[in-house]
Amino acid sequence: MQTLLSVMNSNKPAEKLNLACDLTDRYQRIREYFPKVAGAELSTEWRGGRVEAMRRLATVNGDNYGKTRNFLEGDVTRLSPYLRHGCITLKEAFESVRARFGKRAEKLLFEFAWRDYWHQVWYLKGDAILSDMEPAKVALGRGALPEDIKNAQTGLPCMDGFINDLLDTGYVHNHARMWFAAYAVHWRKVDWRAAADWYYAHLLDGDKASNSLSWQWVACTFGSKPYFFNKENLAKYSNESYCKSCTAKCPFDNTYEVLSEELFDSTNTPPAKTYKIAPLAKVETMQGVNTIVLVHDEMLSPAHPLLRRMDKKIFVFDPALHGDWALHRLQFVADCLIEMEDVEVWFGDTRQVLNQLGAGQVITQATPNPTIHVLLGAYKVDYLAEEPLTDIKLTSSDLRRFSKYWQKMGPAILNP
Ligand SMILES: Cc1cc2nc3c(=O)[nH]c(=O)nc-3n(C[C@H](O)[C@H](O)[C@H](O)COP(=O)(O)OP(=O)(O)OC[C@H]3O[C@@H](n4cnc5c(N)ncnc54)[C@H](O)[C@@H]3O)c2cc1C
Repeated sequence: MQTLLSVMNSNKPAEKLNLACDLTDRYQRIREYFPKVAGAELSTEWRGGRVEAMRRLATVNGDNYGKTRNFLEGDVTRLSPYLRHGCITLKEAFESVRARFGKRAEKLLFEFAWRDYWHQVWYLKGDAILSDMEPAKVALGRGALPEDIKNAQTGLPCMDGFINDLLDTGYVHNHARMWFAAYAVHWRKVDWRAAADWYYAHLLDGDKASNSLSWQWVACTFGSKPYFFNKENLAKYSNESYCKSCTAKCPFDNTYEVLSEELFDSTNTPPAKTYKIAPLAKVETMQGVNTIVLVHDEMLSPAHPLLRRMDKKIFVFDPALHGDWALHRLQFVADCLIEMEDVEVWFGDTRQVLNQLGAGQVITQATPNPTIHVLLGAYKVDYLAEEPLTDIKLTSSDLRRFSKYWQKMGPAILNP
């Protein structure tokens, strides 16, 4: 896929962008600014920004969620791209759902907590989340992602359907993500990281922590056993929508016992694998005198407290951060930015932009993203802490497994 990274020319100065208010013009401009970025246009059911996030939050059905969330047609919130980009905070979503549904929405509060859990693990472990967190409990394949998967041509209507959802809209239901990840890692023996990187690139909610750690949970490099499924499970929760007319030889049509025998070898388990992380290109930084508010991609809300500051505020489409994002995600982010009137939008290396603006001090929201820390390494930086879900202090031992995290956080979340 052509990406932002491949169109960046490091000798060119950073460029200030002008996003149009009109939606059609805005998407056209994103295509013009980033002509080589591949992927589908943002589909009409997705619009970035806080207004849309609040609309979705208001229509959440906390009563039905628990009973139906595992079904592809279930009452899920579709809030993930908005939470991921900070259009609304997780705390806001929690409080709104808790106030309206109380304990009836326990399952939804529990699922929100998964996002917080992965985020906290990222704070703790940094880039280590991009490598095996633990040795796998069964032998894993380390193959590249095959072309038939990238092109939705596996010949399995269910998997091709899930891949097309990803490529066309950037949104995939949680259960479909689990089925697809298990298919790629356990049936096709693809290296989890190769699959996860490709997946991340196309998701509207792509998040290094939720994505990498979910893939690792499926693969069992961060969990006690591998996740897999059978045809009965997929047929039930997809209301047979794929199975009914499927003529393929179904690789999932068996009991869990037989599939487990076929798929897993627990006698020949590999040591944990560490993946190399490419260092950022060197950019000379100059110390200026100006204070700049850097709006990064987890804080795209006009209600963000840092936007009240009088200092110059900027957002940078930076290949080091957004270099692998597909077109629909850049358009989603452009929607978010158009609501943030005061924020200048740039394209280039963040350090280059800060140099051009004479930055000495940078103020931004705290983030677990190590790339942002490296980009800002040469500046004096004030990180505004994220609003925590509760006052509870978590230790590294609480973060070893979600069950431990929930044991400590659950009671405070459910009975504030
Ligand atoms: C292989 C794989 C990759 C994933 N990659 C991402 C990703 O890059 N970004 C991402 O936000 N989520 C990811 N998830 C988690 C989950 O699938 C999505 O958050 C969820 O499907 C989003 O849809 P929704 O908003 O309708 O979720 P709902 O079911 O309505 O849940 C409400 C919110 O809770 C949070 N949430 C729910 N389940 C999870 C979960 N298991 N892990 C983390 N947060 C959760 C999300 O913020 C979600 O918006 C991944 C899961 C798997 C199995």
